[in-house]
Amino acid sequence: MSSNPNVGRSGIVLESRASYDQSDSGQNRWIEVLVDCPEAEAQKRLYTYRLPAQLQVQPGDILSVPFGAQVLGAIAIRICDAPPPDLNPAKIRDVEDVVSAGFFPPTYWQLLNQVAQYYYTQLIQVIRVALPPGLLGRSQRRLRLAQGEGESGGQAGSAHYLSPAACQILELLKAQPSGDYSFVYLQRQVKGAYRSIRELLRLKLVESYLEPPRTQRPKLQKAVTLVVDVFPLDLTQRQREILEVLRRRGGDLLLTELLQICNASSSTIKTLEQKGCVVIQEREMLRTSAEPLLAGDQPKALTPAQSEALEAIASLSGFAKVLLHGVTGSGKTEVYLQAIAPILERGQSALVLVPEIGLTPQLTDRFRARFGNKVCVYHSALSDGERYDTWRQMLAGAAQVVIGTRSAIFAPLPRLGLIVLDEEHDSSFKQDQPAPTYHARTVATWRAELENCPLVLGSATPSLETWLNITSPELTASTQNSDAMNRVSPTQNALTHYLSLPERIQSRPLPPVEVVDMRQELQQGNRSIFSRSLQEGLQQLQDQGKQGILFIHRRGHSTFVSCRSCGYVIECPHCDVSLSYHHTHEEAAELLRCHYCNFVRSHPQSCPECGSPYLKFFGSGTQRVAQELAQQFPQLRYIRFDSDTTRTKGAHRTLLTRFTNGEADLLIGTQMLTKGLDISQVTLVGVVAADGLLHLPDYRASERAFQTLTQVAGRAGRGNDPGQVIIQTYSPEHAVIQAVRRHQYQSFIETELEQREALNYPPYGRLILLRLSSTDAAEVQETAEMLAAGLASNAPQGDSSSDTSSTNPMYEVLGPAPASILRVANRYRWQIMLKFAPDSLPELPDFNELRLLCPSSVSLTIDVDPLNLM
Ligand code: ADP
Ligand code: ZN
Ligand code: ZN
Repeated sequence: MSSNPNVGRSGIVLESRASYDQSDSGQNRWIEVLVDCPEAEAQKRLYTYRLPAQLQVQPGDILSVPFGAQVLGAIAIRICDAPPPDLNPAKIRDVEDVVSAGFFPPTYWQLLNQVAQYYYTQLIQVIRVALPPGLLGRSQRRLRLAQGEGESGGQAGSAHYLSPAACQILELLKAQPSGDYSFVYLQRQVKGAYRSIRELLRLKLVESYLEPPRTQRPKLQKAVTLVVDVFPLDLTQRQREILEVLRRRGGDLLLTELLQICNASSSTIKTLEQKGCVVIQEREMLRTSAEPLLAGDQPKALTPAQSEALEAIASLSGFAKVLLHGVTGSGKTEVYLQAIAPILERGQSALVLVPEIGLTPQLTDRFRARFGNKVCVYHSALSDGERYDTWRQMLAGAAQVVIGTRSAIFAPLPRLGLIVLDEEHDSSFKQDQPAPTYHARTVATWRAELENCPLVLGSATPSLETWLNITSPELTASTQNSDAMNRVSPTQNALTHYLSLPERIQSRPLPPVEVVDMRQELQQGNRSIFSRSLQEGLQQLQDQGKQGILFIHRRGHSTFVSCRSCGYVIECPHCDVSLSYHHTHEEAAELLRCHYCNFVRSHPQSCPECGSPYLKFFGSGTQRVAQELAQQFPQLRYIRFDSDTTRTKGAHRTLLTRFTNGEADLLIGTQMLTKGLDISQVTLVGVVAADGLLHLPDYRASERAFQTLTQVAGRAGRGNDPGQVIIQTYSPEHAVIQAVRRHQYQSFIETELEQREALNYPPYGRLILLRLSSTDAAEVQETAEMLAAGLASNAPQGDSSSDTSSTNPMYEVLGPAPASILRVANRYRWQIMLKFAPDSLPELPDFNELRLLCPSSVSLTIDVDPLNLM
């Protein structure tokens, strides 16, 4: 470097000029990158840099780029032929270097682009869902002597005028054997290091580089090992006790554990080390495996139906979509486990998506028991440290199983061999907001195609979408992007497979479902929320020492509170909903809570409207049911399992463990209970009131109610003892209730499908919902009306009234209409629905233009294939 005559204060400028000259010869390329720092995050955008000619960059590489006065880590996203028109090319800075090539799987960026396109979202928003912040945050920026500077004994340095701080930094680097320090260290050692480092960089005396996240940076934990067989004589009683504990535990414990067990201080253990009795060592410990490691578990001998399903999955090479339709308790998880084993052996990885973290501990345990530390858990509730470790493990590329919720479909896992979506019908796989409003199943299909691997969708109650897609793929609304929107080709039909597990393990029967007509209960003088049947069932639990589950549609105590004198209903001041009453003995406070915006106020002593003290509670939540239970069955011990009681980290696991350990007789909970719990001792399942599920203003209400009730019923009788299900309702004749009672998935779904087809609703037609919201009631309404009118007049070949034989694809505009709860958290909400036939994508309006038409106070979300219309 010192021999370069250009080196000088202006050296860098001269070199840059030279490169700009090249740009005129058409050699220039630009790249959009995701800069990894909070300031850049806050800007919610990608940054453009120029690619120096000598640099080979691929999307997915990790780069170092200048950003303000810093050099930061960045992910290369997209190479562009032209700089953005609003940027002066002379102002665009150069990428400094490639820090780590091929950091992400090659198809990864294609997937993210596809999501951005289909869900009408900017790429940056997709990236922010896919890659939560802080991936590169811990990669270190380091400084080293420029090549040649080390040996030349500082001669080059002295050729320039250097500030004292710069000299000091050079000296430090030279004194260090590898000539290399982290920025952080230098900044701590040298005052004014920042400016001096820039000075040295300009003179090319030093180089800065980013150390990529290390593939080996485990969390170290201190472990204590016993190293003597005979204890020395000069020990105190206490010290002996500690060594005894260590010996009984196999002579080896984590320091924290030992301290906890013995209630000792670390100085006591240090003394024991000094006496030569134990050794304290740092030991690697991944935060991802912090949960208890389980005893190894062997593959089970499969039932004939399981074997058939497994063979079918194992025989697939390349992309295929499989529906594994198995009744509750039929052993789907065992099929996943055995399908994944050979994939890991081949050095590939598998991705397993589950609906909610509540059931993940149990499922994760089953996977850990089978595959040990090859399993890692990925979801949005991870701490930063856990996330970092999980990233590290994923990107290290070793064969592994990643289990996670919705956003885990974006886990940057290389060499995917299989994707599994368990409980594929579950609506938590769909993101309503913010954008992208993606469905993990749709994204999983694309990802499996891109990676050319099979996708297995498992459920006891498959969604209508999946059912139709697998059984008659040619009829389904395609989820392809516009160019590929034409009818699914015949070859693709061969890529869908239907596999069935029609029976429970060991031919255990599905539990009989008893439907109780609550109108009759009342007529016959039973005013309890428990029917006589359910009371009998609960009594039996108590007598026979068995366990049960009570399903309640809502948490809290009562769904609303109203005045008996004037009829006033206490509502949320920010939303158009009534407040729910919350009260438990543990909390010892009477509260009213909004389930939409979480507003809380104390429960008034008298009616805020007329002052009457006679307030009445309506609608039963989990707390109310628990209270009634305590009154009628004081001996039954229960655990409430809902979002009120599972807020803290690890609460799901703790509550479920207590339940399976027999510390309670009953689990009382909401929706969370329906999702995959496998507790063999549960014999009784009671649905306190099915009606809350049946009568919702949504074309999917029946499908969802059927799925929920069938799933919750499926928790009963999974072990040796037969199960029993009691569903209480005021509409016993309802088609959903009847189908659940008879365990009739197929006939129910066929009727449902006919109704959907008649109305051109999904899965036959497709929907796009425009959600508008604003704090200004009038403005959002006006905007909704304006957009809807514009959409209707632009709709190709008119609206719904037009001649349906027209060959031009068209869409129907429904609305604008206020959302069924107009105001939530002080925002007024309006909706416009676009509905269109599946066979070809109509020319849809440019949603970006629509956004521009909205005044700044109105926000617009495009919900593609919406599930929640409320
Ligand atoms: P699903 O997911 O279909 O509801 P699970 O996979 O949870 O069913 O299986 C139900 C229970 O049966 C689990 O406890 C599981 O360990 C057990 N099981 C699964 N397959 C077998 C098998 N082939 N032999 C014995 N037990 C099995
Ligand atoms: Zn009143
Ligand atoms: Zn509210």
